[in-house]
Amino acid sequence: MDMQISFLDRLFDAGLLIDTGVDGLYGRSGHFEDVIAAFERLIDKVGGGDGAEAMRFPPGMNREFFEKSGYMKSFPQLAGTVHSFCGNELDHMSLLKCMEVGEEDWTAGQQATDIVLTPAACYPLYPTIARRGNLPAGGALFDLQSYCFRHEPSKDPARQQLFRMREYVCMGTESHVTDFRQLWMDRGVEMMKSVGLEVEIDIANDPFFGRAGKMLVNNQRDQNLKFELLIPITSAAKPTACMSFNYHQDSFGQKWGLNLVDGSVAHTACVGFGLERIALALFHTHGLDVKQWPEHVRSTLWG
Ligand code: ATP
Ligand code: ZN
Ligand code: MG
Repeated sequence: MDMQISFLDRLFDAGLLIDTGVDGLYGRSGHFEDVIAAFERLIDKVGGGDGAEAMRFPPGMNREFFEKSGYMKSFPQLAGTVHSFCGNELDHMSLLKCMEVGEEDWTAGQQATDIVLTPAACYPLYPTIARRGNLPAGGALFDLQSYCFRHEPSKDPARQQLFRMREYVCMGTESHVTDFRQLWMDRGVEMMKSVGLEVEIDIANDPFFGRAGKMLVNNQRDQNLKFELLIPITSAAKPTACMSFNYHQDSFGQKWGLNLVDGSVAHTACVGFGLERIALALFHTHGLDVKQWPEHVRSTLWG
């Protein structure tokens, strides 16, 4: 049997993940959630002194913002939209008929709403901050957490369709935001070591869609725009990205009209923690029973 499948089955058997019948869509047990909550407290402890402004957006975002973000140019294969029934009583009758017969796709008549599923926790932030006007002197720092959706069904428990991303987002000058990113790369390595996880940092690239996407991949790599912190979860040979460190240059600043106090275009960077992946890395490394985890790991997480 494939390694990936067996880890997923072990997680189901232990009750840590709950099968919904859809690959990449899982319920989580109280024990699983305790680990995520504890790791988030560790993040708070490490990042809490930086004075980030906390904001929490729901897992859906304004469709207009999503369209303007350009997500459909880069990752159309991953996006999820929210559609609803918007018809009259007659339409309702034919809808029910269609569902009963089951030959045609009853969802074909659904209409797009103003909401799309959030693809990354920071997407709703940029237009929100741009609306405030110029950034304050010294730039700005934000603390976000959101469920994110990506249409990438998989048997790998570390690749889910709805998962939580905790992020810090920094806006300011080039050196300010690249220093921020380096600080979190160092902190990320230390944090993972403190909970007994083996990590490596590597340069990364996003799966930009299609032939035009190849250029974007090369650009991202050549300019060191994205790094990942990798931890073995389902494969030792191909460890899994549990954090990412992204420098957007001034592209989001330009797109959204984010300006510094002097009116020049802001640079931005974000660091993301994949919360389910970090929990899975802990379960993979230390075992499925939290009570059996090494004492130093337990005390780092639960004091
Ligand atoms: P990957 O290369 O594994 O697809 P990514 O580069 O798409 O990851 P990012 O877009 O940088 O990931 O998202 C930030 C973090 O969110 C990742 O480092 C990872 O920990 C987490 N993440 C991304 N996709 C998923 C997913 N499908 N399931 C669970 N966590 C995810
Ligand atoms: Zn981000
Ligand atoms: Mg991905």
